[in-house]
Amino acid sequence: MSKLSNFAHPPWCLRGPDCAGSNDLHLSRLCSASVGEQEVLQLRVGLWRMDVGPTPPSGLLLELSASSEVERWPIGLAQSRALACLSQRLIRQLAPPPANPA
Ligand SMILES: [Zn+2]
Repeated sequence: MSKLSNFAHPPWCLRGPDCAGSNDLHLSRLCSASVGEQEVLQLRVGLWRMDVGPTPPSGLLLELSASSEVERWPIGLAQSRALACLSQRLIRQLAPPPANPA
């Protein structure tokens, strides 16, 4: 795969130290899925894009961490969309979320 010459940051790119470095990976801010401090496993999710090939691969970046162990998994766009649909379908089978306090 060849690198694209018309390199540009996507609007959501943080342009941080990870961006456009040796791996040409654009990374968005990671949003925490934690709802409290009690979770042993922390989950954050964001967007990624890598500028290679005629169509840059992109999708969701999942970051899982427990204490100092951090794992980052960039998921492709098709799998990211499937994950969103599957997650909603599966979670609907669980108990409904608690009502928001007024
Ligand atoms: Zn960038």
